[in-house]
Amino acid sequence: MSRKFIPSANIANLKESATLAVAAKARALKAAGQPVIDLGAGEPDFDTPAFIRKAAADAVEAGATRYTATEGIPALREAIAADANRLLPEGAEPFTAAQVVVSSGSKQSLFNACMACFGPGDEVLVPTPSWTSYYEMLELARATAVPVLGDPNNSLKVTAAMLAESATPRTRGVMLNSPCNPTGAVYTREELADILKLADEQAWWVLSDEIYLRIAYDEPATSVLQLAPARDRLIVINGVAKAYAMTGWRIGWSLAPTAVTRAMIAVQSHTTSNPAAVSQHAALAALSHVEQADAAIAEMMVAFKRRRDAVLNALGEARKYAVHPAGAFYLYLDVSSYGGDNPGARFAEDLLEKHQVAVVPGSAFLTPNWIRASYATSDELAIEGMRRVAQLLTSTEPS
Ligand code: PLP
Repeated sequence: MSRKFIPSANIANLKESATLAVAAKARALKAAGQPVIDLGAGEPDFDTPAFIRKAAADAVEAGATRYTATEGIPALREAIAADANRLLPEGAEPFTAAQVVVSSGSKQSLFNACMACFGPGDEVLVPTPSWTSYYEMLELARATAVPVLGDPNNSLKVTAAMLAESATPRTRGVMLNSPCNPTGAVYTREELADILKLADEQAWWVLSDEIYLRIAYDEPATSVLQLAPARDRLIVINGVAKAYAMTGWRIGWSLAPTAVTRAMIAVQSHTTSNPAAVSQHAALAALSHVEQADAAIAEMMVAFKRRRDAVLNALGEARKYAVHPAGAFYLYLDVSSYGGDNPGARFAEDLLEKHQVAVVPGSAFLTPNWIRASYATSDELAIEGMRRVAQLLTSTEPS
């Protein structure tokens, strides 16, 4: 007799990653021979730049095959601190390697930060829609994620005033992500400065996920580091996955006050230990050959911008349903005209079954009237996929 599995209290409310679930479904359909266009994945389709791949191969030959320090190799921690210091305003105290933890992807850095800063009884404000894992990581830390719905007339962004309204005496922090997954919105310098000021007054932790910082189209995106807020409650998270086309290498990092850094190292030491040695050497090459990396990123940005413009064009009239995509590589579309309880999920299901295009339902980001389509795929597929999205969307418009 097999006994029923009852999940522990730790994960009783945990949901699987909806974005990864869409990717798995699209992959399964493709494997079964269906010509699915996958606009679900949030992954650049470029190869990791050759100079980074070569540095990794050389590192393996030179013996980078063993454990490293949990927090990462010293040279990489220093390169990360130097990378962050380039953003600081003049006169700001520079980061040192002691404030850096290298992790197996920025996802792990975010998890480490949530575990280190939040616990039972703590409320954390999550501008919504947000990347699906913030809500679940806070749940794993047994804290309470408090979604704060963004303004549809301002690219679904939140303001300091909106955050203040959702705060209670139990509020301990706020998650920031600009450029934003899933909306592609980018916060202005002023919007960020207002939020940082409020957080500082309230002594909230600010976890700023800047994984898409380099991917902005209209103007450069602002890092919270440029605004030189008090840094005693600030944790900045970044990584090589998106800007350097290095998703599979799994390298992310945190910049945080030294005491918090020590706590995050402790969390990591009991979970995954060090990120893969070879990947750390690849990331070191990416961060220390600044000119070569900048040239590679600039080349990818030309392609991303061309696709961004092309998918907006392919949307035609349906463009009015989209948040203006100013950064990252996502289009967020209001499909509420599709009707029902969960229009985004119904739309995504019909789009996949009848038109062979995979997108992520907005319910994954707590906004069921929307869908997210990624254009991190070839020009041809992004344009054709978006054309089918527009077709389905306009066919359901009230006449
Ligand atoms: N943060 C956001 C907003 C993301 O969209 C993603 C990946 O999709 C991550 C973090 C995780 O990135 P990494 O591959 O570095 O773990």
